[in-house]
Amino acid sequence: MLIPRKKYSIRINYSGILDEESRGFYKSDYQSVDGNREYVAVTHFQPTYARRAFPCIDQPDTKAVFSITLNHKKGYTALSNNELISKECIETLESCTSKFKDTPIMSTYLVAFIVGDLVNVEGKAVVDSKDREISVKVYTYPGNFEKAKRVLVYTIDSIQYYSENLKIPYSMSKLDSVILKSASNAMENWGLVVYEEVRLFDWDGFGSIIEKSKLSENICHEIAHQWLGNLVTTRDWENLWLNEGISNWIQYKCSQRLVADPDEKARYYSEGYQLFLKRDSLVKSLPIVHKVKNSVEAHSMLNIITYFKGAAVTNMLENFLGTDALIDGLTSYLKKHSYGNVDTDDLWESLNESSNLNLKEIFDTWVRSYGTPLVYVSETNDKRVLVLNQTQFPLKENADVGADTVWNIPLSISTSLKPEFKYQSMISRKESIIELPLAQPVDENCWYNVNTGLYSMARVKYSDKLFERLLRGVEIGSVDIVDRIAIILDNYEFMRFGVGKTSDILKIIQAFSREESMYVWKLLVDRIYELTDIFYGSNTVISRLLPKNLALPISNLSRKLEKIKDRNDYKYFAGMKPKIIKLLWLSLDQNILDKAKSDYEKFISNLLFDTKDFEIDSTILSIGVSEKKIEGFDAASRILLDDNISSKKKEMAKTSLGFMCDKDSIAATFRFALSDKLKNDDGMDILISLAGNFCSKGYIKDGVVANIEILKKIKNRGKLEKFLKVYIENFNYTHEAIGAVIFLENHGITIKDENFR
Ligand SMILES: [Zn+2]
Repeated sequence: MLIPRKKYSIRINYSGILDEESRGFYKSDYQSVDGNREYVAVTHFQPTYARRAFPCIDQPDTKAVFSITLNHKKGYTALSNNELISKECIETLESCTSKFKDTPIMSTYLVAFIVGDLVNVEGKAVVDSKDREISVKVYTYPGNFEKAKRVLVYTIDSIQYYSENLKIPYSMSKLDSVILKSASNAMENWGLVVYEEVRLFDWDGFGSIIEKSKLSENICHEIAHQWLGNLVTTRDWENLWLNEGISNWIQYKCSQRLVADPDEKARYYSEGYQLFLKRDSLVKSLPIVHKVKNSVEAHSMLNIITYFKGAAVTNMLENFLGTDALIDGLTSYLKKHSYGNVDTDDLWESLNESSNLNLKEIFDTWVRSYGTPLVYVSETNDKRVLVLNQTQFPLKENADVGADTVWNIPLSISTSLKPEFKYQSMISRKESIIELPLAQPVDENCWYNVNTGLYSMARVKYSDKLFERLLRGVEIGSVDIVDRIAIILDNYEFMRFGVGKTSDILKIIQAFSREESMYVWKLLVDRIYELTDIFYGSNTVISRLLPKNLALPISNLSRKLEKIKDRNDYKYFAGMKPKIIKLLWLSLDQNILDKAKSDYEKFISNLLFDTKDFEIDSTILSIGVSEKKIEGFDAASRILLDDNISSKKKEMAKTSLGFMCDKDSIAATFRFALSDKLKNDDGMDILISLAGNFCSKGYIKDGVVANIEILKKIKNRGKLEKFLKVYIENFNYTHEAIGAVIFLENHGITIKDENFR
């Protein structure tokens, strides 16, 4: 019988496997310099995969000290969280035993070990004011030195940045990073960070400040975790935003120190900041902090809301408290809970102490409610007095959960009447009246902005009059870049969910036609494209007006893009070109139609067809094929089946079939894609792009219904599911999408992806 309070030791003999998937203890493969397939054995334990490698109580709050010893083949490098203390080899057996120093007390999901043929570069980082140095190494597979060197520089700089700014020296005596060809994204294991190579380096515009920033942001993120997550760990997975959201915010502070991108703000708000917004507009969106009952749910916490909405909350705290005060608060939170576990209340408590405010009372709603507040703004007769009404977005009538939440919303109000004027206020009721301390009333030509610089995460809907005045400000250049970005972000969601008029998109296009920032354009093109997709063929006024209104600004943008062709960040912005080309096609731009026609003639007449940029050239060619309707289909399908034609040209023919727009060609493409004439999964690839093409929308359903018996027999279920997801997502109305799902289920086809359902 076990005696209470007596300490027992348990010894468990166990064996495990080297997993093929990147979880637990698994095999990561790469191609060696002489073309052989080689492996590195590596671990990935977050959130609940440590139990796949060794018996443990696999919860973040059951911390332990780990003593790790690895037996491995001689000549291989063995790494773990802490430093190597001994290595003994038996020559006759060609094997070695590497023993590592005990880890600090830590969570199981952060334990790591790696064995493989690895090379490294090394340096030192200074971690405190007494010049204490730690060893920093970056390992990778042989032949990958240059990338390792780049990672080393940013790793050293970011360790120093956090040690200095969080006022807590990095706590271990070494930090190794490993770049692998295949891995589970990136993982912040304490003292042994693992990166998948594409995650760090797969950015367009090599050597540009954007590419450098993206590399350093990723490194800054994982290094931030050495404090936020590793030294201080969340008690459970439901509070994961404390690790991920805050790290996702602070990575930009760190990266800005490392790379100093002059456009950091524009890039942050048009990219990283806004990623959660579309997800958070859905009625099924969950709060940042919510109950996690099992390991499947723990896994699903690694999502957009945790990372990006968590970062946006932190960003709002920064606006409200000031950067220094927030970082001071984080320092006391980290110091107080070092080697321990925390939940959201612990963060509020530390921030309360450093700010003398009750932050739980003010901000807890932001992390515990789904969605964000939507603030309606209108003006009174006294033009210094504004009326603000808040409601929950997504709108409650669309949602099926909970009562309408009322938020405390910090606001920063500005007006074009007085550019230096910024009035900070907080609204805490459904309806609030704000009197601005202005000496003279705002006249008819001036705009107000109640959420200047995206001070809070609220979405703002202005009365028609105020909206038009704000857009006039955009037109004449008196609205700051972050506020211009906010106008696009907010109004896109409003149009999508029936809060705003669809015609607002036309006003926005008009107001932004002279926009200079490529970041703003990149965001705007993305949103316009999606709205075009939604409205296309909907038989509404907007679906007719949109193409007409797009023609001029989009062709101007296309020329603007040509002008920056020699810049090293061109490729990054050129990513929007295929969308621009499709929008020009839709607005019947004569240049695009002419180019598409002549490319088509060259393509089918076997003239030399030179492609400089595959994606752009094949987009234009595809338009040519699509415009020719059934004749285009015949030509493209013939090329695809001709064994004497180059694979590149066949690839273009395949792409072009996804662009078919008329009823007969779409039906023919459907039959062709499902016939046994095509090799591999070419047919499914064609169907996937066809389903994602806006002009096929009305006809894809006919194809699915007509060919349901063949679809049922498709062997590659992954591709089939991908096609069906695109097909269902493309319905304009939920009831149509549900009808399509029921039809499929009645024919024995279910979509497995739980998130999608
Ligand atoms: Zn992270």
